[in-house]
Amino acid sequence: MYKITLIAGDGIGPEVIGAARRCIEATGVTIKWEEMRAGTDVMKKYGTPLPDEVLESIQKNKVALKGPITTPIGYGFRSVNVALRKTLDLYACLRPCKWYPGVRSRYSNIDLVVVRENSEDLYAGIEFERGTPETEEFIRFLREIKKVEVRPSSGISLKPISQFASERIVRFAFTYALKNGRKKVTAVHKANIMKYSDGLFLDAARRVAQGFPQVEFEERIVDNMCMQLVQKPELYDVIVTPNLYGDILSDLCAGLVGGLGVAPGANIGDEIAVFEPTHGSAPKYAGLNKVNPTAAILSGVMMLRHLGEEDAAKRLEDATAKVIAEGKHVTYDFKEDPRDPSAVGTGEMADAIIRALGKR
Ligand code: NAD
Repeated sequence: MYKITLIAGDGIGPEVIGAARRCIEATGVTIKWEEMRAGTDVMKKYGTPLPDEVLESIQKNKVALKGPITTPIGYGFRSVNVALRKTLDLYACLRPCKWYPGVRSRYSNIDLVVVRENSEDLYAGIEFERGTPETEEFIRFLREIKKVEVRPSSGISLKPISQFASERIVRFAFTYALKNGRKKVTAVHKANIMKYSDGLFLDAARRVAQGFPQVEFEERIVDNMCMQLVQKPELYDVIVTPNLYGDILSDLCAGLVGGLGVAPGANIGDEIAVFEPTHGSAPKYAGLNKVNPTAAILSGVMMLRHLGEEDAAKRLEDATAKVIAEGKHVTYDFKEDPRDPSAVGTGEMADAIIRALGKR
């Protein structure tokens, strides 16, 4: 029996995570869920959107399934999602993008994985606000030390890329490729322009690649990569990249295979893994039993694989694929016309997947 932390999240979170939980349980794998709450709902009680007990539960259980959590604009607290990744050092964001027959998309035969570095790059949060004394001092420093002129009205964000984090994420990508029978890793960068940050990442990638001769290695400049992904996405397998490009490419790839409703994800560290759909809390759909549970269910499939429950993972993935391919018991976003009255709700799609699993 596994003990797993369950964070339903808010907005559509409880509906999609509830659906995923039922599907996971229907595989027959026994799980004791430790239910935790985070987000704005718990602010009043705990004075923080991310109570210590949530972190402690994940640290203890090592695995969590999580729903989306709203980041209110202007409340003055950091995103719970960012805080979780930082505190638990979940340095790798894993986003598989696979097309399933029946999903409306311009493409088919796509089965790739984006591995995004989660801990640094322009997301490090080192920013200088326009016009402040510290920014003016920084601009003076740049003039004196680097002999460069930065316009006085500038805001500045720094992009730290370390050898440590670059090697770690590329090693993660190759290890994932080996474990999952993947053939190729493509490192994506802009080293021709940012020689000391992306150049360092690329050097690290080349060095780490030498330790994995069984897996093909290639490099792509990020702008070219965007074009290649739109023209011939079937050529790509595992893509590894620093934080910002990873953020953009993983949404691009989700778009290639049908959008947010079908895009699962995970944030993983050396010991801890948190599985969650890529999409947010879509507040306008909350409580309507309307949205697509596929992304959450496929995140559950990833979780089962992570636990070593390959058979259950495959059965759940196949059952989900079957329901999508049949197109009968699917949510509105799978339909040509989103107002199609034959679309079913979140819970009913999960029911159909559970029936396809052959167990209830
Ligand atoms: P969103 O992903 O919540 O929704 C954007 C649109 O995508 C929705 O209006 C809907 O049309 C569609 N969509 C999303 N999930 C769907 C599903 N399962 N089925 C069908 N359609 C779906 O993005 P947003 O509106 O930018 O963000 C809303 C909130 O979620 C924000 O507060 C944001 O910070 C938060 N967010 C949280 C996470 C997370 O917890 N990991 C991730 C992204 C956004």
